[in-house]
Amino acid sequence: MGLQYFTQGNANVLFETDSQSLLRISKRFSRLSENNTYTATVNTQFIKSIINKNSTANLPFILYELVKIKPQYNPNSDYERITLYLANLGILIDSDEIIGFKIPNLFYIDKTITSINEYKTIEVDHYTKIHVSLRSILWECKPKWEYFQNKLSVNNTDYTTYFCRNCTNNIIKNIKTQICYCNVVEFDNTHNMTTNNSNNNNTTEKITFLKKILLKYNLPSDYLSDITSYLILNDNNVIRLVYKEQTNLLAALPFFDPHLMTLRDVSCFIIWKRAYNGDKNIIESRIVDVDYKPYKKSWETQYSKIIEYCSKKIIHKDSFQHEF
Ligand SMILES: [Zn+2]
Repeated sequence: MGLQYFTQGNANVLFETDSQSLLRISKRFSRLSENNTYTATVNTQFIKSIINKNSTANLPFILYELVKIKPQYNPNSDYERITLYLANLGILIDSDEIIGFKIPNLFYIDKTITSINEYKTIEVDHYTKIHVSLRSILWECKPKWEYFQNKLSVNNTDYTTYFCRNCTNNIIKNIKTQICYCNVVEFDNTHNMTTNNSNNNNTTEKITFLKKILLKYNLPSDYLSDITSYLILNDNNVIRLVYKEQTNLLAALPFFDPHLMTLRDVSCFIIWKRAYNGDKNIIESRIVDVDYKPYKKSWETQYSKIIEYCSKKIIHKDSFQHEF
C-alpha cells in the first residue's frame, strides 16, 4: 500500500507508513530545501534540547528520529508521493531529498490494533478529540496556556488578577469550547496548582460537569470514570505536568521564549487501554507536536488584544465563570 497521507497542522504534514510509524514533514517554508534545513538543523537541535531539559520534569515526549528520503523514480515511492503532496500545497520542490522525522503512530500503541480504521473520532471541540475503538480510547488535546497573573492599572488603581488566557483568546477568536484545561486543574489564589481532593465541593462539581459533557458521546462507563479521575484527581496527569513546566519556565525565561511557546502549543495524548481478566485498565500519556517556533510579532499583538479585553473586564475571573 505504501505511504499514505495521514493529517496536517499549520506547520507539518503527517504521512502514515506501513510500519505503523508516521513521517512528519515540515511545510513551514515555501521551498523544500528551506524546510529540510530547518528540520535537520534548527528543529533537531531544538527538539533535543527541549526533551533533555524537560526530562527532569518527567514530561512524556515521544521520540523523534531524523530520516532522509531519496527519490526512487517510481510514482509510488515515498519521495514521489510526498513531493507531489507538498507541490500541491504550493511548496517548491528544489531538493532531491526530503528530511523529516519518523515518529510513533500513537493509534497503534495498543498492540492489538491492526488498522487505524478501528477508531471512530469524536470532535468534542477545537482542542479536544476522542478516538474510540473497542479496546482502547485516545484522548487528544491541547492544554494551551496555564492561568497567569497580570497586573492591570485601571483609573490609577493597580489590580493584580488571574485570568484564563485560553478562554479569553477563544472569545476573541470566536472559538467555542466545552472543556478548558485550566479548569480541569485547580489553582489557588496565588497561582499555585493545588491538589485536587475528591472531598472538596469544587472538585466534585468539576467531575460532575465533565461527566455531563462526556455522557453525550456514549462512551463506556468504565472509561468515563477512569478519564474523569485521571483528569481531575490525578495530580501527575499530563496536563498538570505541562502546566507545571510552563510555570517553571515562566520564572526563568522571557515571556515569549520559544521553549515556553512550544509547551503552550503541544498536543497531549491520554491513552486508555481496556484490561481483560479483571486487571485494572491502563492509562498512559504522550506529548507530541514539539517544534521550534520562530518568534512572531503576532504573538505580542494577540497578547495585547487579550489584555485589552481583560482590562475592560477587570473581574474577568468572576464574570467569566468557567462552568466546571
Ligand atoms: Zn479557561
